[in-house]
Amino acid sequence: MNDICAVSTPLAEGGISVIRISGDNAVKIVAGVFKPLSRKSVEDMEGYTCAYGKITDKDGRAVDDGVLTVFRAPKSYTGENVCEISCHGGIFVTKKVLRLCIEQGASLAGRGEFTKRAFLNGKLSLTQAEAVMDAISAQGEYALNSANLTKEGRLFKKISDMSERFVKILGELAAWVDYPEEDLPEIQEDNLRESLEEALCGLNKILADYDSGMVLKNGVDTVIVGKPNVGKSTLMNMLLGFDRSIVTDVAGTTRDVIEERAKLGELILKLSDTAGIHDTQDKVEKIGVDIARKKLAEAMLVIEVFDISKELDGEDRELLEYVKSLNKKTIIVLNKSDLKSVLRKEDFEEYSDHVTEISAKLDEGRSSIQKAAEELLGVTGYDADSTIFANERQKSCAERAKKYLEAALESLNIGETLDAVTVMIDYGADALLELTGEKATEAVVDEVFSKFCVGK
Ligand code: GDP
Repeated sequence: MNDICAVSTPLAEGGISVIRISGDNAVKIVAGVFKPLSRKSVEDMEGYTCAYGKITDKDGRAVDDGVLTVFRAPKSYTGENVCEISCHGGIFVTKKVLRLCIEQGASLAGRGEFTKRAFLNGKLSLTQAEAVMDAISAQGEYALNSANLTKEGRLFKKISDMSERFVKILGELAAWVDYPEEDLPEIQEDNLRESLEEALCGLNKILADYDSGMVLKNGVDTVIVGKPNVGKSTLMNMLLGFDRSIVTDVAGTTRDVIEERAKLGELILKLSDTAGIHDTQDKVEKIGVDIARKKLAEAMLVIEVFDISKELDGEDRELLEYVKSLNKKTIIVLNKSDLKSVLRKEDFEEYSDHVTEISAKLDEGRSSIQKAAEELLGVTGYDADSTIFANERQKSCAERAKKYLEAALESLNIGETLDAVTVMIDYGADALLELTGEKATEAVVDEVFSKFCVGK
């Protein structure tokens, strides 16, 4: 393979940067850039060894000093020779070191190209490669844990065991299909039915966990909405755990939509605190209201806030009806429970099953909001160790496999010809093999790696 290089750390000022080079000539290329202090040459370095040295340009002028790590094929991330130069983390110096590697013959790596090579060299399955990306983007314990389980190969093993079984069955079926006059012996038919039922049960279980898994992994778009001064910003600050948005006594202060991430247990709420949806003549405020309506339409979860110490007015009622018409998962929060209350939970029953009294100012009620959100989003008692599909690609392969395996079972049960059953199992097994990447087209593989960052 040709040699590729990229900056593997973010291109921003920092302590160190890592430039990674992979390919047959990686060591030779780096030998033209890096001069170890204590050794004769980079080419003498064995795999899994490091050296401190000088980074120089082709005229021998010093560019930087740093540490080189050498990995020899096949014992490296990509399965090829890999060198990693750690230099000082300035943007200019990092780019300069990268340019020196290009001058020595390496070309700039595309998105995810290192991991793609690891996949093509059999170091990782496609699902494991996707898990690498998930581990990088993980924002919480759950996301990291599920990425790690997939990286260890759990999903791959489950799906590949299934497809292996069907490939074996297909081999056996081929024998009968060639002799159509012979019926499938009963024992074989029972085995086949059992394999189909077991695979469908396994797929259904993983598919059923997809939505809650995605919620835990990616977080939930949540909008906090309510009339000015009911305590939306204070609530947002309470959920975030520290002061973020500006809290004032003047109604209508929160004009723009502010987005923050609040962690409630394992749930990540991607919060937008809005200006409310009330009619207004104020031009600036109207923009905020329009954005709020748009955010509400896109949100998965709505937290509607009311001031428990004040009777509902027309604006509150308009909001209740408006949110109800959106048919969203809704938590109604009656805020300022430290004051004398004039609102009653019962009055809100027709608008949501989750009405809770809190005092955002006194930091009381966080756990009741968490409980309501977990119930509404179906993540209570969720098993953090269950196998889940990491993305739409994996899910749609599994759904395709399910459709064909169900059709195969149906054909078997109504006594259709073995040809029909075989064709359906064949398609089903193909979908499973595409899921693991064992039989994915180049286009699918390219699509997966195009979502990676450069340098990974
Ligand atoms: P927003 O306009 O809906 O964002 O409301 P703010 O969060 O700016 O709060 C408006 C006012 O209500 C501020 O003076 C807050 O201190 C006060 N406030 C917010 N939450 C509570 C609460 O739980 N109890 C009491 N007594 N006052 C609160």
